[in-house]
Amino acid sequence: METTLHTEMTVAEVCKGFAYNELEGKGLYGLSGKLTIQPEYQRNYIYADGNKDVAVIESIIKGYPLGLIYFNETEEGRYEVLDGQQRITSIGRFLTGKFSVMIDGKPIYYNTLDKEIRKKIDETRLLVYICKGTEQEIKEWFKTINIAGVPLNEQELLNAVYSGPFVTAAKAEFSNSRNSNVQKWSAYVKGNVKRQEFLQTALEWVSKGQRADYMAKHRADGNIDELKTYFGSVIDWVSTTFKGIEKEMCGQEWGSLYEKFHTTAYDPDKIWEKVQELYRDPYVKNKRGVFEYVLEGCMRPELLDIRIFDEATKRTVYQKQTEEARSKGVSNCPHCAMAEATKTKIWELKDMDADHVTAWSKGGATTKDNCQMLCKTHNRAKGNR
Ligand SMILES: [Zn+2]
Repeated sequence: METTLHTEMTVAEVCKGFAYNELEGKGLYGLSGKLTIQPEYQRNYIYADGNKDVAVIESIIKGYPLGLIYFNETEEGRYEVLDGQQRITSIGRFLTGKFSVMIDGKPIYYNTLDKEIRKKIDETRLLVYICKGTEQEIKEWFKTINIAGVPLNEQELLNAVYSGPFVTAAKAEFSNSRNSNVQKWSAYVKGNVKRQEFLQTALEWVSKGQRADYMAKHRADGNIDELKTYFGSVIDWVSTTFKGIEKEMCGQEWGSLYEKFHTTAYDPDKIWEKVQELYRDPYVKNKRGVFEYVLEGCMRPELLDIRIFDEATKRTVYQKQTEEARSKGVSNCPHCAMAEATKTKIWELKDMDADHVTAWSKGGATTKDNCQMLCKTHNRAKGNR
């Protein structure tokens, strides 16, 4: 039996000519008719619950891996999906307008998506294993890759596909629990050394996310200098830029942060002081965002998911502000009060939003004293400044 890994097929190609049988609830064809998505003996599409199918699309939009897909090549040179029908059918149904995903709180169908996002989906490459052999061989093969009920993860499979001098050398370095560096790495890299997750991260960083391509290219190399040096540079950079260790530093995308920021000069004392300050700040909900926020120069509070005003605070402030406005005969939105057309307009609570008088990024707290209600239009205008 032959198996080959293909990394060049895009979502657009695989879903070209996608047909879906509404009545039987199954995806039928793809790859311009060359691919049978659901051979007779396979179970029907079960992802159409507005949850799993949406999750598939969201993964693609976010650039998360979709996992391996297996095709069986038939004697006539056609393909059948052995594993991955649910995912392909979800994508095909989305591309043909069968369901929507929520973006910024609104349901969006494929054809009304932003052009860039559509392009990103279309050009997403799938990791497809093509197997050629008898049914018996294919069953045997599936048994081997699912040792004792624990399926091989993606990196373990890639190691199997690209086995050779490179994988051997890379495993000796990154999959060796006796390597004395492992403890240091564990502060920044998540996962289990023995299940190849450190190797996966090292390859992910050096290849900028194109692990399979990188492994294919280096398959026959006995040296892993580039991989080792790059990984070492990233780790050194993180550990000198950030003087201490916090739990949330583990599993960050340090590779891409390194690419973005390693040429910027930082004062490690000041950096760590800022990190600690944000860790103590009760308004910071997302601690994982602290590191990118600080590296960027504290420009995007949205990375930190700052706590917002609660309903009780909004109501109290609204009542006080509205009473005062009524007694003065002016609008209860301070900005509206300054414009001729709206200067006496009294808005209802539902038509107003809470605003930080002093912005959080300038030290303003999320408390009643720093809260003012603005009409929705003015609040949005302020937010965009
Ligand atoms: Zn207003």
